[in-house]
Amino acid sequence: FEGMTIDELAKRTGQSISTLQTILTNVGEKVGSEFDTLSIDIAELVAMEVGVNVRRLHSNEGTEILPRPPVVTVMGHVDHGKTSLLDALRQTSVAAKEAGGITQHVGAFVVGMTSGASITFLDTPGHAAFSAMRARGAAVTDIVVLVVAADDGVMPQTLEAMAHAKAAKVPIVVAINKCDKPAANAEKVRLQLASEGLLLEDMGGDVQVVEVSAMKKTGLDNLEEALLLQAEMMDLKACIDGPAQAYVVEARLDRGKGPLVTAIVKAGTLICGKYVVVGSEWGRIRAIRDMAGKSTERATPAMPVEIEGLKGLPRAGDDIIVVESEERARMLSAGRKRKFEKDRLMKIMDGRVEDPETEP
Ligand code: GDP
Ligand code: MG
Repeated sequence: FEGMTIDELAKRTGQSISTLQTILTNVGEKVGSEFDTLSIDIAELVAMEVGVNVRRLHSNEGTEILPRPPVVTVMGHVDHGKTSLLDALRQTSVAAKEAGGITQHVGAFVVGMTSGASITFLDTPGHAAFSAMRARGAAVTDIVVLVVAADDGVMPQTLEAMAHAKAAKVPIVVAINKCDKPAANAEKVRLQLASEGLLLEDMGGDVQVVEVSAMKKTGLDNLEEALLLQAEMMDLKACIDGPAQAYVVEARLDRGKGPLVTAIVKAGTLICGKYVVVGSEWGRIRAIRDMAGKSTERATPAMPVEIEGLKGLPRAGDDIIVVESEERARMLSAGRKRKFEKDRLMKIMDGRVEDPETEP
């Protein structure tokens, strides 16, 4: 297997020849006719750029596809208890158990069940993070937990969260929180949600509703069970081996270590020492740490990790792809930077042109 033509690659990735030619130009490759042969690493690079797992370029033999844990985001109206719920869930997490407390901040954590199943929670409540990720087309979240305070009911940001989840085609599990309060009225919340078009399970739909109290730590088991059931229905799977496809959950600059990125692997395995392109940044993974802060050589699907070694700061939702060499990493990063700059200028120009349809 030495390579393939652009034409062949277009067929295997389901992309048009001109799309592939644009990508080739962006990464600094000379582009000839669609019948020119590409080397295999270039073919893989282009495939990764269009979001096709390189394995699909090769044969499908020997690819082990296994169930993977769901990745969950908590959303809801301000003060309805998102942070409290995450804190309560985090206390039941693997990191909390292993490290005897929360030793460091990684923007996600894993809750393990006695059954051996686990759930990954993104520790970034709020619509901003979700929107930022969605804006980059990142399918990081599998399920949204919609938190609604039982004493306050459906509020504007509850509806916003519902709209976000719907637009992203991410299923919702409702957590009616603050059920410990005397003024709690879970039934009223159910009716409100139903009247907003949410098809609740107890009304014949498939949206599960769980009553919890983040403060009293009640109902958390039920919530976790509901999430696992939802995940089961979605039949979430990923291949474990092969190059990683991962996403940035959050990124920050550490004075000593440089850019630090919380990442979630969606497929394949992320391995220390590899060259990566992250959004339009690049680097070589110098260290991978699990959420307890322990160094590890590799990260598998749904495992939140912190990675060190990037040259610049990426953004939430950026994709992480593994490339063969420093040269490729630099090339792809430069190509993406050029493309981002072009898109940015296009947007500015579009902004100046008034649309007669919308501007009376
Ligand atoms: P967020 O804005 O959605 O992150 O909400 P917070 O987690 O910050 O909670 C807002 C307020 O509600 C805080 O004062 C919490 O102590 C309180 N709160 C959160 N969960 C519960 C709960 O289950 N029961 C009661 N009584 N209060 C809660
Ligand atoms: Mg909060």
